[in-house]
Amino acid sequence: MGIRLEIFCEQCGWSGQYRLGIGSNTPQLRDALHLLDQSSRPAVETLLQKHPDHTEDFEFRLMHCPDCGQLLERLYVSLFYGAREHWETRHHCPDCGTALVPVPDPMSTSTLPCPDCGQFVLHPGDATFWD
Ligand SMILES: [Zn+2]
Ligand SMILES: [Zn+2]
Repeated sequence: MGIRLEIFCEQCGWSGQYRLGIGSNTPQLRDALHLLDQSSRPAVETLLQKHPDHTEDFEFRLMHCPDCGQLLERLYVSLFYGAREHWETRHHCPDCGTALVPVPDPMSTSTLPCPDCGQFVLHPGDATFWD
């Protein structure tokens, strides 16, 4: 079960809607491949095919661009396969290309600058559940 979260800025009125976690109708990664972006989908498909005994972990995470301040939701995938080899998605900011960092707790946004005005006055709204 995932959560739907709206984050808004007290200063300039910016707001963003995010869908985080993973829905109960996609219990397996192979059912969620269409949610991956073009850069990581071929690698994931190959790994799943070559290593049917892999261990997988995946969910939508709130990611933050440390350079320009964008807040984005991205499907994070972590795979263990073979002799404890590890692969995980790496996401980059669509605007400036900087590597995105995950936001540890999307309900506590006070340390993140607003993507629009840069002030540290972001607030999460009520979280609702999505399937
Ligand atoms: Zn950026
Ligand atoms: Zn703002």
